[in-house]
Amino acid sequence: MLGVLLLRGAQTPGELKQRTERWHSFRSLDDVEEALARLAGVGFAQRLERRPGQKEARWMQLLAPVDGAAPAAVAELPPTVAEPAREPAPEPEPVAAEPHSLEIRDPATNRVVRSVAVTEVGEIEQKVARARAAQPAWAARTYEARAATLRAFRDLLEHEAEECAQLTTSEMGKPIRQARNEVRAVLERIDWNIEHAGAVVEARTVSDNERITYEPVGVVAHISAWNYPYFVGLNSIVPALLVGNAVCYKPSEHATLTGLRLVDLLHRAGVPVDVVHTIVGGGPTGAALVEADVDLVCFTGSYPTGRRVARAAAERLVRVQLELGGKDAAYVADDVDVEEAALAVAEGAFYNGGQSCSATERVYAHEAVWDPFVAALVDVVSAYRVGDPRDEGTDVGPLTRAEQLDVLDAQLADAVDRGGKVLCGGERIDRPGNWFAPTVVVDVPDDAALMRDESFGPVIGVARVSGDDEAVARMDDTEFGLGAAVFTSDQSRAERVLGRLDVGNAYWNTADRSCVRLPWAGRRHSGMGTSMSESGVRAFVREKAWHLFG
Ligand code: NDP
Repeated sequence: MLGVLLLRGAQTPGELKQRTERWHSFRSLDDVEEALARLAGVGFAQRLERRPGQKEARWMQLLAPVDGAAPAAVAELPPTVAEPAREPAPEPEPVAAEPHSLEIRDPATNRVVRSVAVTEVGEIEQKVARARAAQPAWAARTYEARAATLRAFRDLLEHEAEECAQLTTSEMGKPIRQARNEVRAVLERIDWNIEHAGAVVEARTVSDNERITYEPVGVVAHISAWNYPYFVGLNSIVPALLVGNAVCYKPSEHATLTGLRLVDLLHRAGVPVDVVHTIVGGGPTGAALVEADVDLVCFTGSYPTGRRVARAAAERLVRVQLELGGKDAAYVADDVDVEEAALAVAEGAFYNGGQSCSATERVYAHEAVWDPFVAALVDVVSAYRVGDPRDEGTDVGPLTRAEQLDVLDAQLADAVDRGGKVLCGGERIDRPGNWFAPTVVVDVPDDAALMRDESFGPVIGVARVSGDDEAVARMDDTEFGLGAAVFTSDQSRAERVLGRLDVGNAYWNTADRSCVRLPWAGRRHSGMGTSMSESGVRAFVREKAWHLFG
């Protein structure tokens, strides 16, 4: 429902609250537009910009500066359905353009797995308010008490690991072996956080009169991604809870069942229900959560959406942590074992179907090893078993998002137009679901979309270089700055090359790797802020400086 407030005798929007006299409800924006058209000339109408999560912005405002009776046109409006008090309190409504329920689809078949109710805007505000009210008591517990609860959660997750992995595979198509790996690896991350977060936020006395303490930020909004739902979700949720925050967590719409399961496990482990909430929905729901009364927004996703989130948060000076995309490059030097290098490069590029922010998406191979390296790479990629992600033997499953198929089609068409040669794959696989054949393209110029924009799929572009300097220049010629890999038998050569690159992750003879002991901090369009490591714990506290002169 949309509303029009009729205001009599007031000239400014500021007077609206005191002077509301008539109230009309409409089923759609079109009905409102029609009413406003009918009222043209009798006053002036103003449409308030809808800001998700803000009640007043849901309403159209009609300012009719007339004293006395309402104009005839007003009388023709649909019957008044509610006579609000001076301060109208609209019913909670679903976010604009968001359906009431999410259909969770299996990307391997396109069949609907389940339907889940979307969290409506009013409900988001209530959940955030409940989180705010519950947070001080959670923060007042000792670190050991909170850690014990998180340990119980970790044990439950371990106990139900197989079910969790299957659930994730069913909704985002990750090959089951890789889903199991993710669950197993996230247990280690939880262990590390439990062991180290307490020390990171321990009060420090720095002189006789000075001390530093660390306080939780309050309510953390975590807007998550689907590609690694356990890593991305728990990289924020676990340290945030350990140091005393409440969390409102919106899983990606493509990993909603996993998100609901994680929060269920947290509650069953003893985290109070109001200390951690799930918010279900797509992009508009995420936007509404950013607009709600939260203190920190942790977002993982694409650069364009990250920018929107940062802008919205900046309006209220709310802190943000952004983990965004990448276009990681690998350099294969002239001293490598080409077979080993090809295996590692392919793993970096095609694990999780290439749907990783730090997937290797560009390869620069030294001309001295070009032929054998490219041949070895094509051998590895052509041998990948593409198929049902539930099969133990599957290496590459479907793409999670159907929309990405169009992106890959367009990138490949452009690459071929510009002289690129497809050596394997190169097209969709014709079966129900989101299938794209693992693809290697060579001799793609650097200004082609395939070498410039995130592909986020099982596609890799390979180009030749004459040496380290050219490799550095071309690897660094990108808007992103997440990671880069160098394959060489000489560690000091690798470190020299990696030291010159403007990236947050430097990989020698490996790629697409993350580790809880190390900071994850993308540069340029790859993000801002740090997750994991001690810095990733510190992200969830505010410092207080004590000046103590008795
Ligand atoms: P988005 O960046 O669009 O979405 C990421 C998360 O933000 C999801 O939870 C999404 O909800 C939510 N969201 C979407 N719009 C808004 C908004 N305006 N305000 C707040 N939250 C919002 O990524 P997609 O999942 O749609 O994937 C698109 C591309 O993003 C990929 O192809 C890839 O290039 C990149 N990506 C990068 C990731 C990384 O690890 N860095 C992870 C995922 C994607 P919902 O999913 O429900 O739309």
